[in-house]
Order: sequence, then structure tokens, then C-alpha cells
Amino acid sequence: MSEAETPRAVVIGAGVAGLTAGTFTARAGFDTIVLSGGESILRRNAHLENVPGFPAGVDARRFVDLLAEQTERNGARIESGRVTGLDAGAPFVLELEDGSSELRADYVIVASWSDASYLRSVPGVGLLERGSKTYVDVDERGRTGVEGLYAAGRIAEKPHQTVVCAGHGAEVAIALVEDSEVPFYHDWVVPEGYFTDRGREIPPGCEEIDEAERKRRERESIARMQDAFEEPHPGEPTTHPSLEDGSG
Ligand SMILES: Cc1cc2nc3c(=O)[nH]c(=O)nc-3n(C[C@H](O)[C@H](O)[C@H](O)COP(=O)(O)OP(=O)(O)OC[C@H]3O[C@@H](n4cnc5c(N)ncnc54)[C@H](O)[C@@H]3O)c2cc1C
Repeated sequence: MSEAETPRAVVIGAGVAGLTAGTFTARAGFDTIVLSGGESILRRNAHLENVPGFPAGVDARRFVDLLAEQTERNGARIESGRVTGLDAGAPFVLELEDGSSELRADYVIVASWSDASYLRSVPGVGLLERGSKTYVDVDERGRTGVEGLYAAGRIAEKPHQTVVCAGHGAEVAIALVEDSEVPFYHDWVVPEGYFTDRGREIPPGCEEIDEAERKRRERESIARMQDAFEEPHPGEPTTHPSLEDGSG
């Protein structure tokens, strides 16, 4: 174990699935690093209209920025780094692009659509070749054939939709937590007394908050969203790589 017995989870890829997975492992108490090796493919979208909670849709770049902010706010660190190699020992050792740095992890979630190349030399990981795309073979909770190594989102062959990949990131992170020694029930925030007034302990992963705290959190949430949506996002959609030089 790394860092004073706190298990470390490294998520490869700071896109929709990876950022959501990192939110859940961090909230469960894992020392969580989300490695950002490039931008989410969602930044190519023109207007995101099918993610729950946004009746008139939302700018996709705004959505990804807020998702990253949420991941960090919940305790994960987002660090720059593109993974080029993975040694599936105990702990895992991740090799980063510049070749000079390595990262150790007790658990790894692969969420690096569309790069699975660094898994080719890892014994026990199944890769599924479908035309020009490579997917990671996982079970129904995102486990690969290697203990402690998971895959989430599009790279795990999930449908190419934001809500599905975000949901899968959450599901896979929870599978990781459940497979670990870290106690967990559900990741829930509930009103004061919801468990304790029934004589129950607050289950691991849950939090009871009183009315004052609930109202404080709502006020903070309103202020943050008003600020975030005050102006249009300055970013433009990224074009398809084949169109970048104008020849496509
Ligand atoms: C043009 C376009 C429009 C779309 N519109 C919609 C839409 O309207 N509604 C909808 O639901 N979905 C839409 N999608 C689909 C949506 O963007 C994807 O399904 C979703 O982003 C997949 O999430 P993911 O986390 O698996 O991949 P991504 O969000 O792409 O995240 C993967 C991350 O991993 C990083 N990465 C890759 N390799 C490495 C490596 N070796 N090391 C470290 N990091 C690495 C990538 O740079 C990226 O940041 C659209 C996609 C495109 C291309």
C-alpha cells in the first residue's frame, strides 16, 4: 500500500468515464490520481442534449470542465501524463510518456479511450480488436483478467454516449471499492436522522447532514452554477483529427 496505508487508485484518462470514476474512488477514501493524457472526445461535440439534468442541453466543454472541477473537489488529483506502459505487479507501475517518471498504484482503472496500446504487453488482459478500434475485455462490473485492474467507458466497449460512460465510470469505481478492504455501503448524503433515528449506524460511504448544512450546501451550489453559467463558454468544438489540416 502507498501513502500511510491509504490505497491508491490511479485512473488513466480524464474524460467522462475517468473523471466520474475518480470522483467515486476519492469519495470512498482512496488516494486518487486521474491522469490526463489529452482531451476528452466530448470536446468535439456541438451541444450536449442528452445528459440528465440539462433540459435545454449544455455546452460540452462547460460540462467537461465542471466534471473535472467536481472530481477535484471530491478529493482526487488530476495530473498531466500520458501512459505508455503498465507493469501489473503489486503495486502496479505506470510508465508515463516522457519516460522519466513512473507512478505506483494499488488499483488502476483504464478509461483512456481510444488508447489501449500500453495494455498489449500485460499478461491476463484481453483486448478485443474491432476494425480500427481496440476495446478492453471486462466482466459485467469492469474487471479485467488482472486483479485490481479495471476498465471503464468507451474503451470497455460501452455505447458511445456520455451518460452511459459516466455511469459506467461510477459502476466500475464502486466495483473496485467493493473488491477492496475499504468498507462501503452506498455513496449517499441523507438528511440528519435518516439512519440514526431508526437506531442504525451511519453506513460506510454515507453521510447525514442537518438542515442548516443542507441549506448551506444548496446556497453554495446555486452560487457556483450561477457563476459557471453566467457567460457562454469561450471554447470551440475540437474538429475531427482528419480535418485538422484542412485536407479532410
Ligand atoms: C463529435 C462527437 C459528438 C458527440 N456528441 C455526443 C452527444 O451529443 N451525446 C452523448 O451522449 N455523447 C456524445 N459523444 C460521445 C461522448 O463524447 C463519448 O461517448 C464519451 O466522451 C466517452 O467517454 P470516455 O471517458 O470513455 O472517453 P473520453 O471522454 O474521450 O475520455 C478518454 C480520456 O482518456 C485520455 N487518454 C487516452 N489515452 C490516454 C493515455 N494513454 N494516457 C492518459 N490518458 C489517455 C483521452 O485524452 C481522454 O481525455 C460525442 C462524441 C463525438 C466525437
